[in-house]
Amino acid sequence: MSKLPKDLSYFRGKIVPSNEANVNIQTNALQYGTAVFGGIRGYYNKDFENVFIFRIKDHYKRLTNSAKMLQLSFDKSIEDLTEITLNLVKECGYLENIYIRPFVYVSSYELSPKLHDLETDFAIYVLKLNDYIDTKRGLLTKISSWRRIDDNIIPAISKASGGYLNSALAKSEALQSGCDEAIFLDSRGFVAEGSAENLFIVRDGNLITTPVSASILEGITRRSIIELAKGLGFNVIERDILRSELYVSDEVFFSGTGAQVAWVKEIDHRTIGKGQIGPVTKTLQDIFFNIVKNKEEKFKHWLTPVY
Ligand code: PMP
Repeated sequence: MSKLPKDLSYFRGKIVPSNEANVNIQTNALQYGTAVFGGIRGYYNKDFENVFIFRIKDHYKRLTNSAKMLQLSFDKSIEDLTEITLNLVKECGYLENIYIRPFVYVSSYELSPKLHDLETDFAIYVLKLNDYIDTKRGLLTKISSWRRIDDNIIPAISKASGGYLNSALAKSEALQSGCDEAIFLDSRGFVAEGSAENLFIVRDGNLITTPVSASILEGITRRSIIELAKGLGFNVIERDILRSELYVSDEVFFSGTGAQVAWVKEIDHRTIGKGQIGPVTKTLQDIFFNIVKNKEEKFKHWLTPVY
């Protein structure tokens, strides 16, 4: 009997065993980070015996836009990308929470760091993934000494692989300082986001999140939280947030595909609110987890079943 899930990937146009999905060391993307990627979650619901992929078309729209911004040649339609992904997950046989990593990379052996008119490849691998950062315990965070990449340095709203050196610097600094996560300021000194997640605060009953102009990645979870919160009657504001405002917020939380909805307990040794998960965060976190597991009829359209 075959053992499930099978460790398969999509590579050079077909599904292959992951240990055969390898690139040559001369690959341009390996040298310069000339690639764009996505991160998509699938949630297993035992009652349905199915895995539900969260907002797959929105993720592929962003991947396509990221490739366009960087002039990477990429001509697959969102429908084709969705079909390829569903086939891969099905063939692997996953019946658990998963993380899907699609990416477009410059596969050419071109020596110079450039983007246009080069051969690219599209690949996908899949992993089992539950929490990426703890969603139950409050996170200890610090303002990073690294500034978030500015849009005129590396397009910040693209998920450009090379740009993630910036995230890696901030994340390592935070972990090595005994924290769980970093908070970036943008080049102007306003709050941007976490190393791989968007940021929300609650102040005086308002839900506030940093704007796209603060060099953030336009998160799909962020967009979902905004829509959800508005539907629940919250006053949602997208505006610049000052670093010092964070310290006196009633609640702070991160949103992201990896992070899901994760609450912040401490920033720069200041306790946020009462040092517990706040009521707004708890409400949004509970609904979010119900939605992704297909327990909220109203948001079924955000999910694509695998089987
Ligand atoms: N910002 C950055 C820098 C990220 O890497 C991510 C993760 N993709 C996010 C925000 C959250 O985006 P999303 O909700 O689409 O996962």
